[in-house]
Amino acid sequence: MKRDGNNKSLWQEVPDYISKKNQHPDVIYDVVIVGGGMTGVVTALLLQKAGKKCLLAEAHSLGFGTTGGTTAHLNTLLDTPYTTITSNFGSEASQTVARAASEAIDLIEKHVNLYNIQCHFTRTEAYLFSQEKKESEELENIYQASLQAGLSLKYVRNIPITSHFEKALQIEGQGMFHPTKYLLALAKEFERLGGNIQTNCKVENVKEIEDGILVETSTAVFKANKIIYATHIPPGINLLHLRCAPWRSYAIAVKLSHGVYPKGLTYDMKDPYHYYRTQYVDGKPYLIIGGNDHKTGEDVNTELVFRHLQAFAKSIFDIQEVTHQWSSQYFESSDGLPYIGHLPGHSDSYYVATGFGGNGMIYSHVAAMEITNMILSNKSLYTELFSPSRVKPIAGFKNFIAHNADVVKNFINKLIPADTLEELVELAPGEGKIVDFEGSKIALSKDTDGRLHAVSSVCTHMKGTVAWNSTEKSWDCSCHGARYDAEGKVLTGPANQNLETVVLSDLIAES
Ligand SMILES: Cc1cc2nc3c(=O)[nH]c(=O)nc-3n(C[C@H](O)[C@H](O)[C@H](O)COP(=O)(O)OP(=O)(O)OC[C@H]3O[C@@H](n4cnc5c(N)ncnc54)[C@H](O)[C@@H]3O)c2cc1C
Repeated sequence: MKRDGNNKSLWQEVPDYISKKNQHPDVIYDVVIVGGGMTGVVTALLLQKAGKKCLLAEAHSLGFGTTGGTTAHLNTLLDTPYTTITSNFGSEASQTVARAASEAIDLIEKHVNLYNIQCHFTRTEAYLFSQEKKESEELENIYQASLQAGLSLKYVRNIPITSHFEKALQIEGQGMFHPTKYLLALAKEFERLGGNIQTNCKVENVKEIEDGILVETSTAVFKANKIIYATHIPPGINLLHLRCAPWRSYAIAVKLSHGVYPKGLTYDMKDPYHYYRTQYVDGKPYLIIGGNDHKTGEDVNTELVFRHLQAFAKSIFDIQEVTHQWSSQYFESSDGLPYIGHLPGHSDSYYVATGFGGNGMIYSHVAAMEITNMILSNKSLYTELFSPSRVKPIAGFKNFIAHNADVVKNFINKLIPADTLEELVELAPGEGKIVDFEGSKIALSKDTDGRLHAVSSVCTHMKGTVAWNSTEKSWDCSCHGARYDAEGKVLTGPANQNLETVVLSDLIAES
């Protein structure tokens, strides 16, 4: 299975999903779902099951986005602690969030049993442990707030890993699974129920017409009554981009020398925190260790981040071999809760689900239940707590869009000699750098065969500057999380357009 990064995650040893369906552009769909990650596939299945005629359009292959780069902890103890949820939204809201998270795990379990999915779904406990006085005080606050939110948890004297700790909480009713095996099984079920999946089908433009919505894609034009952006972050320019910050998290999968793998989900309280769990794949155990998160596009050596994570893991575990390492992107909302519901600035026919932070396995299912219920009965299951309309419009936003939607064209019709650029910066294979050339910034990278790729460094979303991610071999924009491959093609939204290509004269001469 393909993914939006160069490194291989533990979940990619599954085949690309081959859809059975032809396009049928003449059909009017009740709902078009954009994006074939966990959010899109689960939502499509629930709607199709409820009798709606659905089309799921995925720009690449199913699981290509963050779903293929997750670590798949299923936890009701979320990244935003219940202390923060209670102080931002009140104690009733905390209870609603805890209920929603718990219903999400129940739904996963129901799917696993109903469709007999071999994805190693396991109910388990989670452990959160403190290592110093300040963390222990915070742990006590989290304990109280989580208890009030309705979680079943207690202090314990043992944790599954051998780290030193002061205090530790054990939380009941958590889970874990193999995310892409689960995803593909649900996609199959969706098609069995009559749903239509189109892969390699990028939604490029959506417009409202008199009697519905026209969805223009890279392969065909479809007509629908409703549209759901399950694209992790909605494309184009939207208020939600100002409320969701892109972050990158790192994970490794390792084999241990002694063969005793920790049970349960475990978390320390560092900032950023580390997360641990064991996963069986084809009968073999792997310990997954994650952490070292930073804002996307920050000036960090991403290779070095992996080395730090490995060194940290080796300080705790007797590691025989690091079998996988990968990083991926998530979007953090400004107030700690996701945005699920109607897309701001559009009619009620548009829906969105974003801002999941590091809990998108849970929130994808919450979004699927919430949006399905909204479409079927016009009602919220969760007292509109997750409604994106809690984001208030900002004065001057329309002018801001007009200004930023105008993509900069710097290099059109200019031929730039490759050797001139090479003289400006010496790149080793796999490296990338921004080069100043005659007043313009060029994003230059060299692939493993020594070929130079040159694109504009100006992100086509809102004119941010991209930065090279040396391990995933992508150009990442720190502003709103748009990501591009070395040739400038969009890997991850919200950008709709590729980076402008800089034509290198030497390459033209070669071809
Ligand atoms: C390293 C890491 C570890 C994580 N671990 C956990 C965890 O343990 N537990 C947990 O709950 N969460 C975790 N998360 C978060 C979780 O993985 C994500 O929130 C979740 O996968 C998001 O799913 P999604 O379907 O919304 O988005 P994605 O999986 O990103 O899917 C979006 C899809 O939309 C497609 N798309 C985009 N634009 C278009 C377009 N114009 N037309 C058609 N298709 C389009 C993309 O190609 C992509 O396939 C983790 C995140 C990271 C980065």
